[in-house]
Amino acid sequence: MQVASNKLKDSLSFFYNQLSTIYDVSEIKALFETACHYYLNYNKTQVTSHLNNNINQSDLLKLYNCCKNLKKNIPIQYILKHAWFYNLQFMVDASVLIPRPETEELVDLILKENASLTSLLDIGTGSGCIPISIKKNRPAADVFACDISNSALKVATKNAIQNNCTIHFFKTDILNPTNFNTTFTQKVNVIVSNPPYIKINEKNTLHKNVIDNEPHLALFVEGNDPIIFYKKIIDICKTYLNTNGILYFELNNLTANDVKSYAEKSKEFSTVVLLKDINTNIRFLKATKKQHV
Ligand code: GLN
Repeated sequence: MQVASNKLKDSLSFFYNQLSTIYDVSEIKALFETACHYYLNYNKTQVTSHLNNNINQSDLLKLYNCCKNLKKNIPIQYILKHAWFYNLQFMVDASVLIPRPETEELVDLILKENASLTSLLDIGTGSGCIPISIKKNRPAADVFACDISNSALKVATKNAIQNNCTIHFFKTDILNPTNFNTTFTQKVNVIVSNPPYIKINEKNTLHKNVIDNEPHLALFVEGNDPIIFYKKIIDICKTYLNTNGILYFELNNLTANDVKSYAEKSKEFSTVVLLKDINTNIRFLKATKKQHV
């Protein structure tokens, strides 16, 4: 791969040239702008106004390497090692999922419905995008977050520091109730989770760049029960969710009805509802803990 000269517009042509088989024109433009923002600190308008300017060798090399990695189908967030979520910046690496826009909708819903949130637990926190964005907007809340992965917890801890907020992170195995009971002893008003829910034999339903780059621990469920994580989390609501507290899940339409019936059968909740995302796909479950008489 060779860049024709060192004007910014030549790098842009290089991106178009190299990536046209993987991305469409508008996506390539957006990727180039994201890279220029990160490496050259140019906003979109500056990218356009600097197209005829020369860039130095070091910046040229950075753009070149970025393009080379994009060509290998590596998502830009992993190349730049950061992602934006709910207007905050998060560090990401191969040990955590790239935060998704659907999860931003979930955060938005929780914030709208819990104006005076006092406590929250996020299960399977990954990059920490859920608890951190909630804590930033509800600074008085006590926010807890767990994961089974040490490397994910390291990333989440860095993200909390970078975003200047205190989250109580802990390591636990949600599939092992004894382990969970020894690692968590609070009751909270909100429990939230976006757990793994894809069966390993459904791997081929995902895009290649997801399978090749995102952590399988965060995506796939071992064994035959794709909703095992949801079931365990519903079970722990009995002990760890306060009366009138709310459980929020992110899910997809393949799992939604089974998760809903399991929640209803638990008899822990007064209401269990499924909610749609902005693309009108069923994407969330909300269940309110009932008062036991
Ligand atoms: N909670 C994180 C997110 O929403 C991680 C989810 C996961 O690893 N399954 O991105």
